[in-house]
Amino acid sequence: MKPAPFRYVAARSLDEALALKAEHGDEARFLAGGQSLIPAMNFRLAQPAMLIDINPLKELDYIRRAGNVLRIGALARYRALQRDAAVARHQPLLAETLPHVAHPQIRNRGTLAGNMAHADPASELPAVVLALGGRMHARSGRGERWIDARDFFKGALTTALKSDEMLTEIELPDLPAKSGAAFLEVSRRRGDYAMMGVAAVVTLGADGACIGARLAYCNAGEKQMLAGKAAQALVGRRGADKYISDAAALAESEIDPQGNVHASKKFQRHLAGVLTRRALQTALARAGAA
Ligand SMILES: Cc1cc2nc3c(=O)[nH]c(=O)nc-3n(C[C@H](O)[C@H](O)[C@H](O)COP(=O)(O)OP(=O)(O)OC[C@H]3O[C@@H](n4cnc5c(N)ncnc54)[C@H](O)[C@@H]3O)c2cc1C
Repeated sequence: MKPAPFRYVAARSLDEALALKAEHGDEARFLAGGQSLIPAMNFRLAQPAMLIDINPLKELDYIRRAGNVLRIGALARYRALQRDAAVARHQPLLAETLPHVAHPQIRNRGTLAGNMAHADPASELPAVVLALGGRMHARSGRGERWIDARDFFKGALTTALKSDEMLTEIELPDLPAKSGAAFLEVSRRRGDYAMMGVAAVVTLGADGACIGARLAYCNAGEKQMLAGKAAQALVGRRGADKYISDAAALAESEIDPQGNVHASKKFQRHLAGVLTRRALQTALARAGAA
């Protein structure tokens, strides 16, 4: 199918892009990698009156270290993230997850910011940014603000961004010392959206007790979600590996999978339990648990 008629504007500056968005509001969409927006337009699931192409804004194309955080600009593509030494070194969970996202052609164009703004609960990357405790930087003609990842995702294809705001940067803090992380998913074919996926992060204290844990899931509900109760089952425990099964059982009941043609809700819960156990085993081993 072909998209409904729309006006195309290649933004010449960030200010111009923000002014156009403020003027046209929800009728206008930013165009980043186009790997979700253009298919949706071709199916006429999205019919924006205007596309504001932000690809000319090269100042948004960066991956930078600043102190103990990684700053990822709105135009940083998956492929650049996959090849970046700082991502591999400081955010190995992101590096480990990226090959699970779609296919090389899509990763050449798709952006992390576009993925966040699209907010598909089945996507792997919101789970990763949630598990890492990331923050989103939003800008509009009115000013700028930071939004914690846990406050950013409001539901399927819905975020905390206002109609005049652009997501300009994603900030990922380094994990504390003695942290370990792992991402696992099950999909029908490599590159497909996951039937179920989990991003696990654990941090151990000096005495080996677990002092922090986050478990975030993809395709586990109507919105991107952290399983707080499941993660809490590990916190404060010495020999946290003995409590992995408790955490996995809690995760199975805490998530709210919707089921689809590929997997029933029951099977998705089962997958969540199995993946949680395996991801936590790996994360704890990477954190240096005995
Ligand atoms: C065949 C296929 C398979 C795929 N498989 C997967 C998969 O397995 N896992 C997965 O996670 N994704 C998958 N995707 C989607 C892909 O990851 C997209 O690249 C991503 O969802 C959107 O990023 P984008 O840069 O392409 O954004 P676009 O498509 O350009 O934009 C998506 C939405 O975000 C908005 N937007 C973009 N940038 C900004 C910004 N800076 N500020 C505010 N709003 C913005 C747009 O207006 C639009 O509404 C797949 C896509 C295809 C075509």
